[in-house]
Order: sequence, then structure tokens, then C-alpha cells
Amino acid sequence: MTKFSEYKDVWVYTEQRGGKLMNVALELLGEGRRLSREISGDARVCAVLVGHETDHLADELTAYGADLIYQIDDPLLAHYTTDGYAKVITQAIEERKPEIVLFGATHIGRDLAPRIAARLDTGLTADCTRLDIDTGDYMEYLEKNTTASLAGLSAEDGDKGLKQTRPAFGGNLMATIVTPRTRPQMATVRPGVMEKLEKDLSLKSEVVRIQPQLSKADIQVEILDVVKEAKELVSLTDAKIICSGGRGLGDASGFELIEAFAKKVGGVVGASRAAVDSGWIDQSHQVGQTGTTVKPNIYFACGISGAIQHLAGMQTSDIIVAINKDPEAPMMQLADYAVCGDLKKVIPEIIEAWDQA
Ligand code: FAD
Repeated sequence: MTKFSEYKDVWVYTEQRGGKLMNVALELLGEGRRLSREISGDARVCAVLVGHETDHLADELTAYGADLIYQIDDPLLAHYTTDGYAKVITQAIEERKPEIVLFGATHIGRDLAPRIAARLDTGLTADCTRLDIDTGDYMEYLEKNTTASLAGLSAEDGDKGLKQTRPAFGGNLMATIVTPRTRPQMATVRPGVMEKLEKDLSLKSEVVRIQPQLSKADIQVEILDVVKEAKELVSLTDAKIICSGGRGLGDASGFELIEAFAKKVGGVVGASRAAVDSGWIDQSHQVGQTGTTVKPNIYFACGISGAIQHLAGMQTSDIIVAINKDPEAPMMQLADYAVCGDLKKVIPEIIEAWDQA
């Protein structure tokens, strides 16, 4: 059985692409720092930086909260490959035994984390929206209330365990999942959910370089070239203003109005799943449980009813403006500003007023 006492520290896979850190990596450093301080006085939050020639990223990781940076550098890691990255991170985890390992739920994080968890024979909770450290009561609760055998484990084992919360059953309830038998405890976390720390240039960290045991034969894919998608990239996660359209647009041409609206207010176009499933707009614009989680300063929801799966992806926006002809729609109840009316009349009026403002 895993010796829990050998495991310490919180690791964050700090995903970088082309020498640029992903926002979610910085968000997770903030969250990892909070969790590590709750585990014990000497637990650290450690950034796991994988790639080639990544020295320039160390200062940014430190300023956003990393106590220690494990830099795994090799020319074979210059581009992401599933088998190369999975191998070197698994090696590092086996050698150094972190208590918790967090990944952003990006395409790469979702590809990488389950492979590593399977190699380590430990649990992984995907797509978490909340993380907490157990104070011991959760294991006691499980002992009393579940039929699952917890033989050999005591409430002490659950002490300081990670409670991993994610939407379940189509977003209708939140499930809290624990990893009582194995270490490390692993989770992927949705981008845009956790708060990154204020950048603090006075923070200090230690950099530990790890020379991975990796050869060309370990990597079955050869990257010949990296070609950026030709279509316009949708950066919903970082957008300050989002103008989203739903089924209330009526048809695909409704998005011309939303695009004009977004252009006018300096926003990015979002969509509900109903609009995406109708084929009116690409899935990369979808906001919600099975789309992107967003937290803009202003979220305009145009012709979107406010189903729980949509709300799961945008309800923490600073200001929500709903435009809907149904005053009873859940989005109208949630909104800071609810405009009741036909969006085909209301949006052109806002565009016109914006010009005059
Ligand atoms: P509707 O619910 O049909 O609402 C249309 C709204 O437009 C209504 O409120 C109506 O009053 C209003 N309207 C109509 N005409 C006008 C007009 N002319 N002017 C103004 N208002 C008008 N959905 C997501 O969005 N994102 C997700 O990630 C997502 N994930 C899901 C995952 C699962 C497992 C499941 C089961 C569902 C998921 N859904 C998701 C779907 C979700 O349940 C809803 O079906 C969807 O969000 C509804 O989209 P909508 O609000 O555009 O359409």
C-alpha cells in the first residue's frame, strides 16, 4: 500500500506553448499555493516546466507564486508529444513524490493527465471547478455513509486529502471526489475558474533542473512542422467583453448581428450549445460546461435562456447583461442588467447608443 507520509508538496504542470505560459498555469499556481499552505507549513507549490529552452519563463512562474520550479529540459521536448511528456513527468513524480498534481483542463492537459495517472496507478478527477483540503471529516463521513470498503484506511489517511469538486450528471449536481487509497492525488482544472495571484516581483523561488531519461525511441510521433490554425482564433478565456448568442437569434444570420455588436464594444463572440448544435457557429465559440469557462468583465447573453450547463461556464462574469424576450428566463433572473425585448431591435439600439456615447 502507498506510504502516504512519503508524499508532500503540490505540483502544477505549467503548460507552455511556443515559449509562452498558458493563463491556466498561472491560475493553478495561485490555487496550488493556497492548497500547499493548508496541507502543512513546509509544503511548497512547485511548477513543473517541460520543454526546451524555457529559462525565460522562470521569473514569471516565481512572480505568480511558485516556490520551486522543476525544469525538465531536452531538445526532444521542444514540441509537445503525448508519450515524451508523459514519460518525463511520470519519472519526476515517481522520484520526488508530490502529494497533489494539478493540470489545466486544456487539450494538452486532458491528454496528458490521464496517461500519467494510469502509469502511476492513481486516481484523477477531470474538469474540476473547485478544490479543497479535507480536515479529516470527509473520510469519517465516507466510513459511515458508503458501502465501499475502506478497510485498512483511517480517518487520518484522509486528513489533508484533496476534495475535488466537478459538475456531474449533466451539471445538475456537483460531485466531490476523493482519492483515499493512492498518491499522488491528481486533477485537471478548468481554465478561467481559479484566481491567479497578483504578480509579485519580490517573490523568490528555487530552480531545480531535471535531466530526463528520454530517447528518440520513446517518442512514437515525429513533429515535422507546427501550423497554426488558419481560422481566426477565439480567445474566450482571456476576453474582457463577450457577446454571446443563442437559439433566440433564430438562424445563422443572427451571428452577423452578434459579430457587429462584438466589434463595436471590443468583445469576442460566444455562443450557447443550442446555437453550435444548430450549425450556426463553430464549437470553439461555445461557452458552458462542455465549452469554455469564461470570466469577462461584461457578458452579454443574447437570446440565451440560461440553462444550468450554460450558466456553469459564465456565471462568475463580473457583469451579466441579458437580452431576452422572456422576462422569466433564468438568465434574466441572474443578470445584473436584464433587457426584455426582441434582440433584433435591442442590439442595433445598443450599437447606435454606443456610437453616441
Ligand atoms: P434556448 O434554451 O432555446 O433559449 C433561447 C432563448 O432565446 C429563450 O430564453 C427565448 O426566450 C429567447 N429568445 C427567442 N427569440 C428571441 C428574440 N427574438 N429576442 C430575444 N430573445 C429571444 N449549453 C451550453 O450553452 N453550453 C454548454 O456547454 C452545454 N453543455 C451541455 C452539456 C450537457 C451534458 C447537456 C445535457 C446540455 C448542455 N448544454 C449546454 C445545453 C443546455 O442544456 C441548453 O440546451 C442550451 O444552453 C440552450 O441554449 P439556448 O439558451 O441558446 O436555447
